[in-house]
Amino acid sequence: MNNSTTPMPWLDEPRERLRQSLADNRLPHALLVTGEEGVGKRAFADRFAALLVCEQPDMAKGVRCGRCKQCELASADTHPDIRRYAPEKSRVIKVDQVRALSSFAVASPQVAGRKVAVIDRADQLNINSANALLKTLEEPASDLVLILLQESGRPVLPTIRSRCQVQGIATPSSAQAAQWLRAEIEQMALESPPTSEQCDRALRLAANAPRLALEYVTGDFLSLRDEAFEQFRSFMKGQISVGDAAKPFKTLGLEASLWLFEGWAGDLARIKAGGLARDEEASEMLGFLARTNPAWRAHELIDLVHEARSAAVYNVSPDLEAGRLLIAWQKLMPVKRAAG
Ligand SMILES: [Zn+2]
Repeated sequence: MNNSTTPMPWLDEPRERLRQSLADNRLPHALLVTGEEGVGKRAFADRFAALLVCEQPDMAKGVRCGRCKQCELASADTHPDIRRYAPEKSRVIKVDQVRALSSFAVASPQVAGRKVAVIDRADQLNINSANALLKTLEEPASDLVLILLQESGRPVLPTIRSRCQVQGIATPSSAQAAQWLRAEIEQMALESPPTSEQCDRALRLAANAPRLALEYVTGDFLSLRDEAFEQFRSFMKGQISVGDAAKPFKTLGLEASLWLFEGWAGDLARIKAGGLARDEEASEMLGFLARTNPAWRAHELIDLVHEARSAAVYNVSPDLEAGRLLIAWQKLMPVKRAAG
């Protein structure tokens, strides 16, 4: 369980909605929590799961007691009646994991009054796992609450979605996101904390998804991004091969690479529409491309990323995919006439 105590005020409204359903005894069997990557869906699910098993929750406030045996187990992340299922190395939730969930669904709770199963990244269920999950969704055990998490823009099968109550998590305002990030970094007491410029940049690149921004400033994402962008720019100018340009994307991994390409294509579309690039360092090159290309080119590049993402469930290598996207981008460069 995530033990960060920094308040996330943008989660208050969805929390209140669930508190109300719980208080009125009309809690759905399955909840689909949707929102951008890094917006706090996991923290939201963890806190709700802990509330669901607590013996003496304060239902007027919608908070767990924090003292009972259940709360103790939930805080230590060892509650036997709260299970999490997340994609493993293959990036998909495997059918074996869903089978384990199905057995958990029909077993009696071990210590609490009910069981909670969290499927982290329900958008990464492949067809077989999704079909296996449907059985549990169609005949829900009365003492089970299923919480499915879905990242915005990643599809979940309609047959699954239609059996869940959808709860959206909105992205916080930039002020809320910045405040959370600052407080969280302070709490981490890092030896060399990120500068406020780095924080601002991370928040901008993460489009104010605070947990994602935290990952950016505490990991090596920002420097890897810079290296990848340098290679991207050299490739666009025809200075290096596609193989060399794709290399840093291999280090970044597929998810982060697709995220970057999607961001750049999104920025290109934004510039075409008269707006500003979120990735300021890329704005000069994107501005140049915006002057010489129609807007549909940007949308086409966004579609390519979405296609790559659906294919990703079936294993794609990051550098091959980056190579394919780089070649699509290079078509946006003006063709130089051969000097006669
Ligand atoms: Zn409790």
